[in-house]
Amino acid sequence: AQSERESLLIALGFARDFFVKNLSTSEGKSIGLSYFKERGFSPSIIEKFDLGFALDGWDHLLTAAKKSGYSEEVLLKAGLVLQKEGDPSRIYDRFRNRAIFTIHNISGKPIAFGARILTKEKNQPKYINSPETPVYHKSDVLYGMFQAKKAIRDQDNCYLVEGYTDVISMHLSGIENVVASSGTSLTEGQIKLIKRFTNQVTVLYDGDAAGIKASLRGIDLLLEGGLNVKAVVFPEGEDPDSYSRKVGSQEFQTYLDKQSKDFIGFKIGLFKEEIKNDPIRKADVIREVIQSIGKIPDPLIRSVYAKEASSLLDVEEEIIHAELNKSLLKTQ
Ligand code: ATP
Ligand code: MN
Ligand code: MN
Ligand code: MN
Repeated sequence: AQSERESLLIALGFARDFFVKNLSTSEGKSIGLSYFKERGFSPSIIEKFDLGFALDGWDHLLTAAKKSGYSEEVLLKAGLVLQKEGDPSRIYDRFRNRAIFTIHNISGKPIAFGARILTKEKNQPKYINSPETPVYHKSDVLYGMFQAKKAIRDQDNCYLVEGYTDVISMHLSGIENVVASSGTSLTEGQIKLIKRFTNQVTVLYDGDAAGIKASLRGIDLLLEGGLNVKAVVFPEGEDPDSYSRKVGSQEFQTYLDKQSKDFIGFKIGLFKEEIKNDPIRKADVIREVIQSIGKIPDPLIRSVYAKEASSLLDVEEEIIHAELNKSLLKTQ
């Protein structure tokens, strides 16, 4: 007999096909396809990422799926439909009038969807995503891993971005070793997944306060996971999608190469101006850097970074080591 997992995967495959086919209907062409075109997405990238469209209406997917023999129970468990509040026997499509980003598992099977609003309505969430289901554990999934895994291995580096469209635009720029954490903070499961393919991550989060904060947190988690970490800061208000389209693929690649700094250089760069004439702020930043070094599990690598921090921050190495020992004692 079919396991529950298998039946959910089959239903999700049906939904993927349905959303993809919607793009060739007249409504899909004029609304969905033109949205993707405006973002610069080519027909081949749309196909590669199973991009699609959810038509406006309460039950397009529901009706088609039921007609094809899928039970309401399976559609509910797959996260494709919702129960009406106050009347749970009535169900309706979760994704309506939105651009669809299919989320695949590592072998390329659809397991969830992200759905973007097409207009700038302020009272609606920009993205609606599938809920947790028996086949979709958010914390173990990175968007784009199926399309990226070979390139990550070949390049021995994984670019980590925030959003679906960052992944897609980087593919369009010829960079395929890229995955997205999809706006949530990085998890141990996601780090384990990356480590199956490489030990080197370059964090490319958005150039806004939230992105920088998330980078700092992500960097510490990656260091703790024993990974080699670099990071790039984007100009204020830019993300990899907007910036790559703004400057073009060649200049984008050059920017990544030039601006990739290890976590120490990244942290110092962020606070460069404010620590110039402020010894107390500088001491804070030194402690911040040492705190991150303390996350590195390998003592030899730790001492290499201690040396680098000493020279970049112009602090004696013994002092760095003394502080490091203090912070290591604290975390034990
Ligand atoms: P776009 O370029 O289409 O505006 P983005 O990827 O730049 O999208 P961000 O606001 O930077 O959007 O968010 C990064 C990621 O976080 C998104 O790709 C999405 O996965 C997730 N996200 C953003 N807003 C929401 C939301 N309201 N609910 C759930 N997830 C969200
Ligand atoms: Mn953002
Ligand atoms: Mn963004
Ligand atoms: Mn964006």
